[in-house]
Amino acid sequence: MTKLCREVWIEVNLDAIKKNLRAFHHYIPNKSKIMAVVKANAYGHGAVEVARHALEHGASELAVAGLEEGIILRKAGIKAPILVLGFTPLKCVKEASAWNIELSAFQVDWIKKANEILEKEAVSSRLAIHINVDTGMGRLGVRRGEELLAIVEALTASKFLKWTGIYTHFSTADEPDTTLTRLQHDKFISFLRYLKNQGIELPTVHMNNTAATIAFPEYSADMIRLGIGMYGLYPSEYIKQLNLVKLIPALSLKARIAYVKTMITEPRTISYGATYIADLGEIIATLPIGYADGYSRELSNRGFVLHDGRRVPVVGRVTMDQIMVSLGEGDGKQGDEVVIYGRQKGAEISVDEVAEMLDTINYEVVSTLSRRIPRFYIRDGEILKVSSPVLYV
Ligand SMILES: *Cc1c(COP(=O)(O)O)cnc(C)c1O
Repeated sequence: MTKLCREVWIEVNLDAIKKNLRAFHHYIPNKSKIMAVVKANAYGHGAVEVARHALEHGASELAVAGLEEGIILRKAGIKAPILVLGFTPLKCVKEASAWNIELSAFQVDWIKKANEILEKEAVSSRLAIHINVDTGMGRLGVRRGEELLAIVEALTASKFLKWTGIYTHFSTADEPDTTLTRLQHDKFISFLRYLKNQGIELPTVHMNNTAATIAFPEYSADMIRLGIGMYGLYPSEYIKQLNLVKLIPALSLKARIAYVKTMITEPRTISYGATYIADLGEIIATLPIGYADGYSRELSNRGFVLHDGRRVPVVGRVTMDQIMVSLGEGDGKQGDEVVIYGRQKGAEISVDEVAEMLDTINYEVVSTLSRRIPRFYIRDGEILKVSSPVLYV
């Protein structure tokens, strides 16, 4: 195992990701493919390793937020189709073509100009385009049927673009009230029907994210875009309670105690602002994780970690690179392993629990884990490899 000199790390259980993919594979119709959403460094899990592993275990395509994320995957040798979900400015169309990365588009003008740019470059292959239809997300996407038809016509007429997909995105699929999801679905289907009525043959149709896949597997169409569920997290408590797909969280966050002291001498103040004063004889441990790692400062005097299978509280403010936890009267020593997110000796601190404490969602908790934390990948119970831009000694 690689030697860490700042002892905090993430363990990504690739076996869990494989099982989660398998669970979705069995749950959706046979004809529906899986696009693994690996944007934001695979929700903090590490894009290259997750992408490779997902492609080996049931995913056939990948999605990223921006072109740069796609290029990182290509540079790592990944050959599968990659779709950019976000907006790509025309100045980047050339690079998308060079790296064979599919783009989302929803404006006639953009399509025509993109074609002209590629024509000038005299590229040899066509750039693949998925049309994004806005049925209620209100973010990106074409909103009217006539406009959609014009885009399809412009795409069909173009020599340097090819139309490979059409999709929409649900805004409330994780909620108990399914009204808007059904409305969005029906609106999308009516757009598709309108195109078909013009004699147009449709490319790959996709709409379901994790929540919609679980709540509406019948909407899985040609492909689902699977994000959070692949990582073993549920999009919401409601979706979890449906109890329809069993998921295993893939990520754990761990550290080793850097220092332990018993507070027998004054002062007994802990961290910036001296917001915590330890009891006489209280045992305080210091851990090498802080808000710059994505461990929120909001967890000051609120968070917990696991030590020896026991929950111990964060005391004082979270600093940039370190926190203190109180072991109470329990013993602990330098080098002891603590679990910040995950399981230890039957106890668990879940990402969901931390998200709730922070008044946010599990997506934010994992995707904001800093790149400076090394990631260890575990396959068949063994540590496979380390990925990190940080230096190893
Ligand atoms: C992020 C994203 C997804 C994946 O959503 P999950 O809830 O993580 O499954 C799918 N489609 C689009 C357009 C997205 O932006």
